[in-house]
Amino acid sequence: MSWQKARRWIKFYGSKSQFNLVTKFSAIFISAKPITSVAKYLIALALFYSLSYASQAQTINSAEVLSRKQVPILCYHQIRDWRKSDKKVDKDYIIPPATFKAHIKMLADSGYHTILPDQLFDYLTKGTPLPAKPVMLTFDDTDGDQFTVARSELMKYGFKGVYFIVFTNINKNKYYMTRAQIRQLSDEGNVIACHTQDHTNFKKYTDKDWEPQIGTPTKKLERLTGKPVNYFAFPFGEWSSAGLPKLRSYGFKAAFQLSLPRDHNDPLMTIRRILSCGYWTAETLDYNIKHDFGRAQLRLVSNAKAKPEPAPVVK
Ligand SMILES: [Zn+2]
Repeated sequence: MSWQKARRWIKFYGSKSQFNLVTKFSAIFISAKPITSVAKYLIALALFYSLSYASQAQTINSAEVLSRKQVPILCYHQIRDWRKSDKKVDKDYIIPPATFKAHIKMLADSGYHTILPDQLFDYLTKGTPLPAKPVMLTFDDTDGDQFTVARSELMKYGFKGVYFIVFTNINKNKYYMTRAQIRQLSDEGNVIACHTQDHTNFKKYTDKDWEPQIGTPTKKLERLTGKPVNYFAFPFGEWSSAGLPKLRSYGFKAAFQLSLPRDHNDPLMTIRRILSCGYWTAETLDYNIKHDFGRAQLRLVSNAKAKPEPAPVVK
């Protein structure tokens, strides 16, 4: 078998079957030669590492990931009417239901299609085509109105979302989602993903924090949904390059931040999102997606600046 063919096989079968494949190659090669057991071991080892390296280099090419046009990814938190006690800064994270509904309607009327993280991963790593006008809708922190308000609104247009769960917020009080609601979202084709145990800042983790903040809630979410949890979002959107290899070691395929530039060595673990602010009209959201998403330096605009932009066509 040629080297090129072997590489194609590995790409096809993926990393999980890599060990079995290498074992088979080694067995064929070794059985044909009268060599010592030490040499057999060394040959098998060399084959394993060389094929591992080739496979990894093929599946994750950071330059290739960085070169692809970024998909707009919107981040929502609470969906409720503002209270007098809400400050201006809070309104980045609190969107009134009427505004949220206008955002989602604008996306549908403008021909956007929601995509899920596996589609984004395949697009970024392999160039797998996406539907026209792709957008990803993400919801952080387990707020109950993401189920009671967002779910029905997304369903109206056949949209799917990604729910980044803070584990200790589940069933916390009447403002947060229940276990049954999270399971239902998963059963209905949405993606449930990890947003840590209790929203501790990723940049502040010490050795003792990794398992309780990342490992344990991920396993619990997998038990709750009966599906693998492959994606992660950083609390407050904050991350450090130093922590990315450790995060990857927990088996995540990709991680999502907010709007900082991506890490050039690991762009898949620092995928960008924008906060879809509560005071943005649908026209402002449309403007910001069209004009600013995907550039190295975000220049998100206020409603006033977005006004000259023509309103989206409403069918
Ligand atoms: Zn959060």
